[in-house]
Amino acid sequence: MDEQTLVRQAVQARQRAYCPYSRFAVGAALHTATGKVFTGANVENVSSGLTVCAERTAVLKAVSEGERDFEALAIVCGEGACAPCGACRQVLFEFAPELEVIMADAQGTVHLRRRLRELLPHAFSPGRGQV
Ligand SMILES: [Zn+2]
Repeated sequence: MDEQTLVRQAVQARQRAYCPYSRFAVGAALHTATGKVFTGANVENVSSGLTVCAERTAVLKAVSEGERDFEALAIVCGEGACAPCGACRQVLFEFAPELEVIMADAQGTVHLRRRLRELLPHAFSPGRGQV
């Protein structure tokens, strides 16, 4: 799948964000090794600690549908690049340390690309202690 197609799906997912408190809508699209795409949007809660990010929404959907091998993740927010938060980096690292993370704005312009391993150096990994 080409990058722009994945980014477009993240742009569409962003429109489904539930963010009445922050008004900060984020969309994500996760491409699996089997060629599927799982999208996610951030879902806020009045109890702010219960808010779930778009990236984790996408990965939890994928894993719960039997997918565990991921190749690329597009993340879209308003303007400029939007990097995944630490919690999302850790959850994604569990399955895909070499994941390509594509960060784009709401118009679909890509601003930054990084491997997840670069975004989360010295991660706490399933092999614990491996750096
Ligand atoms: Zn997050």
